[in-house]
Amino acid sequence: MAKVFPIPLAVRQIKKASKDWATPFAIRLSKSQKPFWVLVGAILSLRTRDPVAESAFNKLMKLGKSAKSLAKLKESQIKEAIYPVAFFKEKASNLKSLSGILNDKYQGEPPEEMEELLSLRGVGRKTANMVLTLGYDKLGICVDAHVHRIVNRWGYIKTKNPDETEEALRKKLPKRYWKDWNQLLVTFGQNCCKPISPYCGSCCLKELCPKVGVKKFR
Ligand code: SF4
Repeated sequence: MAKVFPIPLAVRQIKKASKDWATPFAIRLSKSQKPFWVLVGAILSLRTRDPVAESAFNKLMKLGKSAKSLAKLKESQIKEAIYPVAFFKEKASNLKSLSGILNDKYQGEPPEEMEELLSLRGVGRKTANMVLTLGYDKLGICVDAHVHRIVNRWGYIKTKNPDETEEALRKKLPKRYWKDWNQLLVTFGQNCCKPISPYCGSCCLKELCPKVGVKKFR
């Protein structure tokens, strides 16, 4: 019988190893900001490195402190503030439209239900889960490229894309891990289990991990 990857042990090991690692931008953001800004940060972070997203976020916040004030900005002002995040033109347009809708329909804050969040322009499952878990402290599993890659390398699940991974984790991962799963694995993915050439030689899980699909490592 195939060995099941020992999640509780892996979580303990990663927590121990990650004490000196930097906290991802979205997590830091959620500790000081309202859900609207968690949503903005999540959108800016899509396909964008943390330092670039954070700098864009800070510039945008200087232009307006709420959905109401962002809705009043011209799209070109938002575009200029958030450049060079990935897809900045599309994101500027989405942020302008979102701010208007949230202001008109939801008193300036994002809705607290998954389906309603997904109905908003530019909001996919990753972003919606981030708003639910980090913005509202609700149950959800936010799956991004780090989470998808790592749980597949562990052989814990076998999936082709982040949506499939979320579905598989919802069935298999004990609920007590859900809310913090993204923070744990994003930190681990940024510092150790990197997309290309992960640091398997010094990894805290090197004895446990079957390294599924890893061709080259350090
Ligand atoms: S041993 Fe390598 S592939 Fe496995 S978790 Fe560690 S860094 Fe990732």
